[in-house]
Amino acid sequence: MALSHSLGFPRIGADRELKKALEAHWKGELDESGLQAVGRQLRAAHWQLQKDAGIDLLPVGDFAWYDQVLTHSLTFGVIPERFRPHSGKPSLETLFGMARGAVANNSGVGCCGGGHAQELTKWFDSNYHYLVPEFSADQQFQLSWQQLFEEVDEAHALGHSVKPVLIGPRTYLWLGKVKGDASFDKLELLERLLPVYGEILQRLAAQGVEWVQIDEPILALDLPQAWKNAFERAYNLLQRDPGKKLIATYFAGLEDNLGLAANLPVDGLHIDLVRAPEQFSSILDRLPAYKVLSLGVVNGRNVWRTDLQQTLAILQQAQERLGERLWVAPSCSLLHSPVDLNREDQLDSELKSWLAFAVQKCEEVALLTTALNDPQNAKVQAALAQSRAVQARRAQSPRIHKPAVQARLAAITAADSQRQSPFVQRIEQQRARLQLPALPTTTIGSFPQTAAIRLARQAFKAGKLSADEYTAAMHGEIRHAVAVQENLGLDVLVHGEAERNDMVEYFAEQLDGYAFSRFGWVQSYGSRCVKPALIYGDLSRPRPMTVEWSRYAQTLTSKVMKGMLTGPVTMLMWSFPREDISREQQARQLALAIRDEVVDLEAAGIKIVQIDEAAFREGLPLRQAQWQGYLDWATESFRLAACGVRDETQIHTHMCYSEFNDVIESIAAMDADVITIETSRSDMQLLQAFEAFDYPSDIGPGVYDIHSPRVPDSAEMLKLLRKAARRIPAERLWVNPDCGLKTRAWPETEAALVNMVAAARQLRAELA
Ligand code: GLN
Ligand code: ZN
Repeated sequence: MALSHSLGFPRIGADRELKKALEAHWKGELDESGLQAVGRQLRAAHWQLQKDAGIDLLPVGDFAWYDQVLTHSLTFGVIPERFRPHSGKPSLETLFGMARGAVANNSGVGCCGGGHAQELTKWFDSNYHYLVPEFSADQQFQLSWQQLFEEVDEAHALGHSVKPVLIGPRTYLWLGKVKGDASFDKLELLERLLPVYGEILQRLAAQGVEWVQIDEPILALDLPQAWKNAFERAYNLLQRDPGKKLIATYFAGLEDNLGLAANLPVDGLHIDLVRAPEQFSSILDRLPAYKVLSLGVVNGRNVWRTDLQQTLAILQQAQERLGERLWVAPSCSLLHSPVDLNREDQLDSELKSWLAFAVQKCEEVALLTTALNDPQNAKVQAALAQSRAVQARRAQSPRIHKPAVQARLAAITAADSQRQSPFVQRIEQQRARLQLPALPTTTIGSFPQTAAIRLARQAFKAGKLSADEYTAAMHGEIRHAVAVQENLGLDVLVHGEAERNDMVEYFAEQLDGYAFSRFGWVQSYGSRCVKPALIYGDLSRPRPMTVEWSRYAQTLTSKVMKGMLTGPVTMLMWSFPREDISREQQARQLALAIRDEVVDLEAAGIKIVQIDEAAFREGLPLRQAQWQGYLDWATESFRLAACGVRDETQIHTHMCYSEFNDVIESIAAMDADVITIETSRSDMQLLQAFEAFDYPSDIGPGVYDIHSPRVPDSAEMLKLLRKAARRIPAERLWVNPDCGLKTRAWPETEAALVNMVAAARQLRAELA
């Protein structure tokens, strides 16, 4: 019999119960036993949901109080010195300290010296963020946290058949960083770490566990040879420990690591057939005959229903070869999908019939498994028939397929993604027109999103504020932002983005082809969740989206008002994309919609338009061999969005959290006139890339970090600016903060900008 299993379930709760409980606990409104009770209820509910859906083997260890990598750090005793409890025994407070900083306050920002939080970074190519383990060269590991064993007992007590989930030793080490001694190779920690895995496996076996899932997603990355070798060494040692081991890989294909992964001395292998369907036949050929193969066929990273008929055909082929050794699963942990579609009461039934969240994905896995084991089953037959019907309707639906959009896409020519003249000529015209001083000062777009703004938006959405009243309220905010900027003496102004809840959602709400869930939350980090918009059909812009706000703002000032848009790549990366057409095609559709907006802004008298591409760098595929393909279409989409304007109109772009070195040529190929980037936290280190490559256009390296309320003085910013001026010719240098100011309050914003303007003036005087 084929077996169905789940690699992990979203922990946050269908109503974000975990988020709410955590935040209440951090505020002191819920004590630890109350928090523990919420965790227990959620785990019990999630196991039951999966079981009811028909999953045979349920995951344990997918629940985490903050982050699963952090749970592992506690389990292994990888607790940085500054958080180590005097008793030697970590507690939940230790865990939250590591996640949020030792002196946590209500705003969730750790501060005030000592225990700064561990670094947070993206989990592979997802929007989930994990806490980076901090190793020292003399790192010791000891079993220090019992959560996994307690949860196994808990699941057993509820009568469940479970499979604990561990992050494998190779991946865990890969994710961490050695602090202090830069020459130390963390690979050397392997021998010290493995005994703890041994101990864990012993304990689990003693608890009556048969299978353990060991996640090694780095097997889908380009690995240095030493790391490949260490894989074999690690699993040769772990082989001696009890329990059957399933190695789980996901997010990409195994490619050159396929032989390695197939032959590790373990009992099973999970592969992601959604991201990498092409590995199917090679894995069938190369998997040793004693091993279980788990096929990840239901997409854990997106929200669409699986084409059951087509997927079943693949599984049947596998079944012929593997028989009993075939397992069926989602492609990866369901951590990355929303919880339960049944909660959605405001989606129309047609759209709903196209969607599947975590619960429904479990049902699909179970159904496919039953289809293998009991092909004549009536329920299976009915579900397959329904799936065929839904897929057929989708393929034809006029809600999805828009001839006008497709015709426009087909008519794109190379000239559309090309400015009229090269940068060196454009910039002369722009300088003559804009009449800015040297080192022009500007901001990245948003100003503080105050309680008043949020209240006005809520009232408007609830119908308590009329459209006119809402517009008047936003105009008031714009007037305020413009007045503040004029007082500060900034050179290029912005309207402040008061009307935007979110830089993607604001635009998505105005484009045809996007839909929104009410409860489709996905954990981003800790208690933070995001609710990405869904791209379900061909995208187009029925009417201008920002023009009236920008036009109004420009009437208030004689200074230059910068228009503010989100770029096509970022729109795509931060949405749930379609699966029936490529990401590239969706980016082009978005680019055309934004292009229309850029052209309309220009026609409305806006002389500078900024197109934010915050997610440009994070769209890079996991495998380097695929980078160029991505960079080509991503760059082209940006240009398609930007290049509808005359030479004299200046195009800015903005990117945050970016390591630019490896993509600098593509950033140059975007051909923006000005790029503003985050650099202050790295002390201008990021500029190295722009220097080494001789980046051609204007650059605004952020001179202060907007992620904290701290107000740097002008001497500090001047120092950074001088550093920047040594690398970038002064005539190409702009002065701006790191990112938008929407998360800040007005007092610190104004104080910091006063200092920023002063720093720019000082350097101007020195250079004159
Ligand atoms: N214009 C946006 C803002 O200022 C940019 C935000 C971002 O890059 N994340 O908020
Ligand atoms: Zn930014």
